[in-house]
Amino acid sequence: MQTVRHSEHTLRTALISKNPALVSQYEKLDAGEKRLMDEAFRPDSDLFGPITLHSQSDWITSHPEAPQDFEEFFNDPYRKTPSPQEHSIYIQCIGLLGNTRSISEEYVKWLKGYCEAFFYGLTVKLLEPVPVSATRCSFRINDNTQNLQIHAGVGIFSFARYGSDFYSSHYEGKLKKLQKKSSSDYSVFDNYYVPEVTSVLLLRSCKTLTHEIGHIFGLRHCQWLACLMQGSNHLEEADQRPLDLCPICLRKLQSAIGFHLKDRYKALVRWVDAESTDTPTVSPERSREDPLSLPKPVEAFKEWREWITKCLAVLQK
Ligand SMILES: [Zn+2]
Ligand SMILES: [Zn+2]
Repeated sequence: MQTVRHSEHTLRTALISKNPALVSQYEKLDAGEKRLMDEAFRPDSDLFGPITLHSQSDWITSHPEAPQDFEEFFNDPYRKTPSPQEHSIYIQCIGLLGNTRSISEEYVKWLKGYCEAFFYGLTVKLLEPVPVSATRCSFRINDNTQNLQIHAGVGIFSFARYGSDFYSSHYEGKLKKLQKKSSSDYSVFDNYYVPEVTSVLLLRSCKTLTHEIGHIFGLRHCQWLACLMQGSNHLEEADQRPLDLCPICLRKLQSAIGFHLKDRYKALVRWVDAESTDTPTVSPERSREDPLSLPKPVEAFKEWREWITKCLAVLQK
């Protein structure tokens, strides 16, 4: 096992930069925010640490990329900055998640709530879910695994891969027999297997969603510290990635959106603590399909909740 450890000087420059305007922008942060961000280059920090590489197939080893420090991010003319006219994130579900429409709707509402806390200050809107056929994307049946794969465009990603046995030979979503389908016949997706809704699935979904939206804001893969924005090549590596941003990526997101760190961390804790997104509505239709309201599975988030509490303590010292 190898670690990517940068010097205090390198991390300080990546975070604060040497550009006088950006240094003075940093100096204007309140004392608590600076104290938390400065943890990036404190060698004994228990909040942020170096990137650990586990194998040659890990992202950094197999996809060499130029690192992006705060200054490079700030000067990127193509990055997206929300404005009073454009400050919404839209989420649209393609196909169902969970085994019923009501589980799927509930699940997407949890993701919406999570995104609202993570990108604190922006509005997150849900678009009506669409069936796979409506996307008109081509798809294939993977020759090796017999799993279905949609050939999607940018900004689209699949949660199916986050079911714990997606890569195993007994994955239940594997098509039982070889089928030859025309590329316009989407019936193969009807009643297609969907992974069980667990707190680990929710955690992985939240990670993927926020990582990918982070790219939309212009954050590139993080090579500074263990961070949500680290690239990942496989599920094991994605699981090792933290759920939140290192201070360098956090400063990038903060400069794009303009939240106070304290408000954002508190919103994330509230999301973990809230049992469900809203009070369950017991309509006759729902009670037939799903007699118990579905509690949000958050066990996998507990350790991370402790971590946010520590961050809040540093902010409020
Ligand atoms: Zn990425
Ligand atoms: Zn980072």
